[in-house]
Amino acid sequence: MNIHEFQAKELLRQYKVATPDGRVATDAEDARQITKAYGGKSVVKAQIHAGGRGKGGGVKFATDPDKAAELFKQMLGMNLVTKQTGAEGRRVYTVFISDPVDIDRELYLSFLVDRVSSRITILASTEGGVEIEEVAAKTPEKIVRVAIDPAVGLSAFQAREVAFALKLEGDAFKKGVTFLQNLYRLFVEKDCSMVEVNPLVVTKTGDVIALDAKMGFDDNALFRHPDILAFRDLHEEAPEETEASKFNLNFIKLDGTIGCMVNGAGLAMGTMDIIKYHGGSPANFLDVGGSATEDAVMNAFRIILQDKAVKGVMVNIFGGIMRCDIVAGGIVKAAKQIGIKVPVVVRLEGTNGEEGKKILADSGLNLIVAEGLEDAAKKIVAATK
Ligand code: ADP
Ligand code: MG
Repeated sequence: MNIHEFQAKELLRQYKVATPDGRVATDAEDARQITKAYGGKSVVKAQIHAGGRGKGGGVKFATDPDKAAELFKQMLGMNLVTKQTGAEGRRVYTVFISDPVDIDRELYLSFLVDRVSSRITILASTEGGVEIEEVAAKTPEKIVRVAIDPAVGLSAFQAREVAFALKLEGDAFKKGVTFLQNLYRLFVEKDCSMVEVNPLVVTKTGDVIALDAKMGFDDNALFRHPDILAFRDLHEEAPEETEASKFNLNFIKLDGTIGCMVNGAGLAMGTMDIIKYHGGSPANFLDVGGSATEDAVMNAFRIILQDKAVKGVMVNIFGGIMRCDIVAGGIVKAAKQIGIKVPVVVRLEGTNGEEGKKILADSGLNLIVAEGLEDAAKKIVAATK
């Protein structure tokens, strides 16, 4: 799960990681008052779960309180398109007003879980403010990596190594080391999967502070962090995914046109592969699980049918513990509730396969029956072309 900048900064403050003052404005008048409190100037920042806001028009400087109010009105409700949002962009529901900082240098810092070494790893670079992918492509020697031994934690030696690589000096060096140690503690205690501070800045007065912060958390650990879970923003998730999670369905929205209802993650991967192989493109990944009820199947099918991008559906069920007649029952129920307006190819095999096929045949629904995986993929691709 990801959170917004303003929420990440709350956590930073809890862990004594330096970050500028900032508050969410409730309305334009509030934006004006906050800016006044910051001495008449502020940075107005749109809150979405994507970076690149600066270039997309989601981070703007207010030179006086009236300007802040005006910027607030512009940003709230706008559809912000950045390099990371895709062409469709994201709507802005929250606007954050930040105390402006006199920047001397912009640096890059992130903590992530490196799957190869199985260690929390620090990435740091003197080239901040720009996208790290760009730095990695053009000047990879400017990125340092430090892997942290979980048994030892972030040692003072390693924190100094990073501070040195960031060319911090004197007081800023000491502040940088403290910054790193506190951020590491936050990362571990809150079960983060990723923290990116870009830019980390050295101010004109020698402070080392997080001007921006992106944080992601391990979903499997959220049960022990109610405070983090409270930060969840459903606006930032595909509505179908939110709906599916209510029924314990494993659903991920993709950008193709063929909806897939499958039991088992492995079979779902195989189904997506074979659709691609035959020239189609999956609209989602949906695993109803190994022992879904008729209601779960019905909800899964309904969620797929409601997706406007779906031009056809491929149902691929291999009945083991899952019974095909239950799947068929769920499909029929969903179809009767909302109707089927797109071609649906069904491949049912395994436990109670014959009963399942009979339920579908007797339902009077216009379904295309397939024999085997390949046949199903060919039929759905042909039907949606
Ligand atoms: P994004 O990464 O989404 O573009 P940032 O928060 O990194 O958004 O802001 C983009 C740029 O705006 C920063 O690199 C920095 O130069 C400037 N900026 C952001 N917040 C402040 C602030 N409080 N004071 C001064 N400059 C800021
Ligand atoms: Mg940034």
